[in-house]
Amino acid sequence: MEAKKYQSFIGLEVHIHLLTKTKVFCGCRSAFGDEPNTNVCPVCLGYPGVLPVLNIEAMRMGCTVARALNCTIPEKTWFERKQYFYPDMTKNYQISQFASPLGQNGYVDIEGSWGTKRVRIHECHLEEDAGKMIHTGTVSLLDYNRAGVSLLEIVTEPDMETGEQAEVFIQQLRRMVRYLGVCDGNMEEGSLRADANVSINLPGAGLGRKVEIKNLNSSRFVKLGLNYEIERQATVLDAGKIVVQETRLWNENRDQTEPMRQKENAHDYRYFPEPDLPVFAPDDAFLQSVENALVELPATRRKRFEIEYSLSFDQANILCEERAFADYFEATVAAALDRNTVLEKKDAASRTANWLLTDIKRVLSRDHIALADIAAFMLTPDRLAYLIVKTADGSVSTKNAKQAFELAVSAENGGRDPADIILENNWEQIRDLAQIAEVLALVEQEEAKTIVQAREAASANNDKRRRALSAFLVGKVLAKTQGRADPKIAGELVEKMLGE
Ligand SMILES: [Zn+2]
Repeated sequence: MEAKKYQSFIGLEVHIHLLTKTKVFCGCRSAFGDEPNTNVCPVCLGYPGVLPVLNIEAMRMGCTVARALNCTIPEKTWFERKQYFYPDMTKNYQISQFASPLGQNGYVDIEGSWGTKRVRIHECHLEEDAGKMIHTGTVSLLDYNRAGVSLLEIVTEPDMETGEQAEVFIQQLRRMVRYLGVCDGNMEEGSLRADANVSINLPGAGLGRKVEIKNLNSSRFVKLGLNYEIERQATVLDAGKIVVQETRLWNENRDQTEPMRQKENAHDYRYFPEPDLPVFAPDDAFLQSVENALVELPATRRKRFEIEYSLSFDQANILCEERAFADYFEATVAAALDRNTVLEKKDAASRTANWLLTDIKRVLSRDHIALADIAAFMLTPDRLAYLIVKTADGSVSTKNAKQAFELAVSAENGGRDPADIILENNWEQIRDLAQIAEVLALVEQEEAKTIVQAREAASANNDKRRRALSAFLVGKVLAKTQGRADPKIAGELVEKMLGE
């Protein structure tokens, strides 16, 4: 393979809105979509003489994310004022963390076609969000509901090389913060936002001249924007020119990055310690509460699913997309094993995965139920487990189980127990040998000619014909029982009869 001409370096800065009920330094409601300027007070509007108070819940959520990213929490962490003048922040500074961020030196492993790649996390710091400016024609409107909302910024080292890797990083991070319950991960509403820096250079020459990319508001735009930018910089270097160090915006309508107006980029931050907030030194109880909040993370759970349930990477990956969906899977497998103690775990898991990844996903999407809300689905894990054990032990055919499922989740009168539906429709298979033999005796009388032909085919070693005739006889048995006779048992009895 031809060696790559340039080495590329991508670092990400991801901002996530923490799901605290109130803002980070005041008691205002922290919510998306409320009437403009209704969740404001003298503190978040920056009136003179007011004092901020740290929301301990924001600190706890921030530290939980930091720990999930394998960061160290320092013994002391504090806040600084980041000076800038812009109308979205009335104080003319943003309270942020500079010298002692709450999480330091972590890492996360991202997995994809490249195998496993470790991305180092430089830091996680807590800060307040700014207000929102809405430009309409000749006027600009300001909404300060967002000013002071708890924001956690996660800064990576420039360890990623392609847009695909950055996309997977964002997807994994989004899944992780949703599992932890600290952020809804909604990129459209801006509760998870990513900026990137990217540079390329000749292999071994270290980082190149860094370009910042903003406005990457979906994981797909992260991939497209970064791949575009790497190509663009390569073209500049190929032409013998120098990459301009600047901030560019991703233009989703033109599929390209464009230089940002210099005016918007002219911040000259001057950090100095925030005198109104004390240094935060987490005590043992606080650190313990952070560790307690660390649930089994999606990547760990996915790996466990692959091993414990013998699932493929793809199956486990989709099942672990949302915590509730993975919970539903595990509850179903457990219920199936509970109902049928001879069922193998691997078998129960594979059957459950098939139901979830095909029929259930389809019905959820028909009913506009998000995977995260599967707890509200009308078919409980126990009822699904019933269908699974019935098909596994052969007492209900797959066809009838699927029919019972469709009725149990039908849009018109769903919510019924599939066990009742099967009982009502007489869908339990007949597995009683004597009962099937009785039916076969009738078929023997009616199909004497076919039986002679089948025996002739057997003596002539015409296996194909013999099998076709035997299948025909099984079909007759099934027809006489409205499809309820277990086809396997019927087949065995027909073979035995022909051999006599
Ligand atoms: Zn406020």
